[in-house]
Amino acid sequence: MKAAILHTIDAPLVIAEVGLTPLQVGQVLVKVLVSGICGAQLQEIAGNKGNAKFVPHLLGHEGCGIVEEVGPGVTTVQKGDKVVMHWRQGEGIESPFPKYVYEGKEISSGRVTTFSEYAIVSENRVTTVPSDTPVELAALLGCGLSTALGTIENEAKARFGESVMIIGVGGLGVNLITAAKLASAYPIIAVDIHDSKKELALSMGAHIFINAKTESIADVLAEHGLKKVDVIIDTAANKKGTEAATPLLSGTGRYIMVGQPKPGESIELLDAHHFFEGIGKTFSATQGGRFMPHVDIARYIRLAKGNILSTEGIITHRVKLEDVNEAIELVRSGGASRILIEL
Ligand SMILES: [Zn+2]
Repeated sequence: MKAAILHTIDAPLVIAEVGLTPLQVGQVLVKVLVSGICGAQLQEIAGNKGNAKFVPHLLGHEGCGIVEEVGPGVTTVQKGDKVVMHWRQGEGIESPFPKYVYEGKEISSGRVTTFSEYAIVSENRVTTVPSDTPVELAALLGCGLSTALGTIENEAKARFGESVMIIGVGGLGVNLITAAKLASAYPIIAVDIHDSKKELALSMGAHIFINAKTESIADVLAEHGLKKVDVIIDTAANKKGTEAATPLLSGTGRYIMVGQPKPGESIELLDAHHFFEGIGKTFSATQGGRFMPHVDIARYIRLAKGNILSTEGIITHRVKLEDVNEAIELVRSGGASRILIEL
């Protein structure tokens, strides 16, 4: 079967034939239908995730597939199930790291990978969904959409009418606009450095778009009668951007880092005294919005079935596995939001 392999750090992925190994306790073989491309893979390609010592390895961590076979001990999914493939831990066994055969040698992967036609996945990284669940929705629930919904629900605890600023209208940013809209945040302020994201952000439900490269965020907020913002969600983790945005928090403000700074990078809280204004502000980082797959996926699918949650507009490009490197470049350059690989 074909897979995209991270062969060398900071180099394009290699598309090659890879062999499967027999399923171990708690492993599930999934025929991958679609996979998203997440910012985390860009970090892995750069070797920023502690993964450099494991190359060559497979990658990808949000997808939708069909269970082809289950290994010993697996009880939560069965052959034929449509599943969400997710990196957060759900129900079932945490299996040994999956192994594949590449050029006659064994290579490893994380407990879930999705950039391949088939994937060996740990039981607790797959969750069964109804067979009529759209594959796009299921894939997005693997990371991007579920992280966004979890961040708004569990971390920001956004209240009706609170202002929410989202920094970075990339693959996660568009999902966050969707989630903020669902929480009746107002206004939703989208910040990016590419004007090309304006139309997308506004069509997804943002009320204000600010190009942080050409405009002062504070000035644009003032034009809209706003001095401060209740929730700031930072997907870009750009040092200067983060430092400039933190003083804009309201007295009940929550600043939430979703994007990760580079290892070794420092960010300063400028004039940090303001953190004591109001009831005291918070600055925090989130791991996937504390999303719990076995609890939350069914809930989110119900919302979509009831036409309350829509994935329309989130996916901006669809590619084949062969074109994964061009797609990754597009994500890196800010030219895309969520890209779906169709397997
Ligand atoms: Zn992700």
